[in-house]
Amino acid sequence: MNTSLKPFNTFGIQCNAAQIVNASTTEQLIGAWQSAMSAGHPVLILGEGSNVLFLEDFSGTVILNRIEGITVHETDDAWHLEVGAGENWHQLVCFTLERNMPGLENLAMIPGCAGSSPIQNIGAYGVELSQRCEWVVCVELESGQVQRLSAAQCRFGYRDSIFKHEYQHGYAIVAVGLRLEKSWRPVLNYGDLTRLDPETATAQQVFDSVCRMRTTKLPDPRIQGNAGSFFKNPLLAAPQALRFMATHPDAPHYPQPDGSVKLAAGWLIDRCNLKGQRIGGAAVHRQQALVLINEESATSDDVVALARYVRHKVGEKFNVWLEPEVRFIGAAGEIDAVEKIA
Ligand code: NAP
Repeated sequence: MNTSLKPFNTFGIQCNAAQIVNASTTEQLIGAWQSAMSAGHPVLILGEGSNVLFLEDFSGTVILNRIEGITVHETDDAWHLEVGAGENWHQLVCFTLERNMPGLENLAMIPGCAGSSPIQNIGAYGVELSQRCEWVVCVELESGQVQRLSAAQCRFGYRDSIFKHEYQHGYAIVAVGLRLEKSWRPVLNYGDLTRLDPETATAQQVFDSVCRMRTTKLPDPRIQGNAGSFFKNPLLAAPQALRFMATHPDAPHYPQPDGSVKLAAGWLIDRCNLKGQRIGGAAVHRQQALVLINEESATSDDVVALARYVRHKVGEKFNVWLEPEVRFIGAAGEIDAVEKIA
């Protein structure tokens, strides 16, 4: 049996798992989890591995969530979609646009599965999953009990949700419910999208523009392994933000509804002249400093060393301490990524 995890992590890190199993139904997923548990093996449930860094061989069972299916239910004011967790996210975006159901176009080309999208509340170009998500169905793996959480119960935040907290262990997402409003308006406040006319822009134009921006700026994981943004954009509390802006008035900054201020991590890294910085086979991407890439047969040690180096350079220059957005997976499961690069 092939137990290499290389095809199952977009970083393209070579490591193995004791066992890898596919689950294409909720029952298979529960069965695989329960049998691994009764054998005392650690379990990791994975979609497409687009937000993970494997630090070493995984000593247990990796379950690939491959639950498929998209159903659409139309009402007077919206399309309601039920999407299997294993559906590829970008294919889902294409599916909706081909059927003239706008709303997901800003989220084009985000790597990964639909079932992973609520975990970190994926977002891009001014739209977050939380704005389109109606509910999430998950299963409590020990009892097999299926639960439907409303969007409010998912407690979505900036790249955050209940699935990173109370529901991190012992639960698996099996389906996501989306609501795409018929009263659609394009969201055009980011990058090249600001050049489109809000009165005439179509969802297809937004999609094309997002795809163009992502293709020019972001590395294709099939060519250069990566896991998208490696670090979260830091959120500063208002007093700290005031002090920061006094010394760095040119820094891009985005006030948040709760009074905190979001900084662009990519800008901070770039200002430390780290684009292209390399340790072993890992490098800071030259077009987008927020992305660390597997430039040439990188090991996870290379990536960790580079992440630590970036965190320290940025911390020493700006007194802002970056935290990984990517999840770090050790031999027995997820470990604290901040601690690892502290
Ligand atoms: P960018 O345009 O270079 O902007 C840098 C950062 O500034 C972004 O991360 C974004 O924060 C923030 N920003 C820019 N314009 C903003 C606005 N009008 N209002 C509020 N915040 C604004 O960003 P980029 O790296 O090319 O990425 C473009 C989009 O794709 C961003 O939304 C980014 O989050 C998303 N993306 C996500 C990943 C991932 O792995 N999570 C990877 C690549 C790109 P936000 O991140 O909060 O939007």
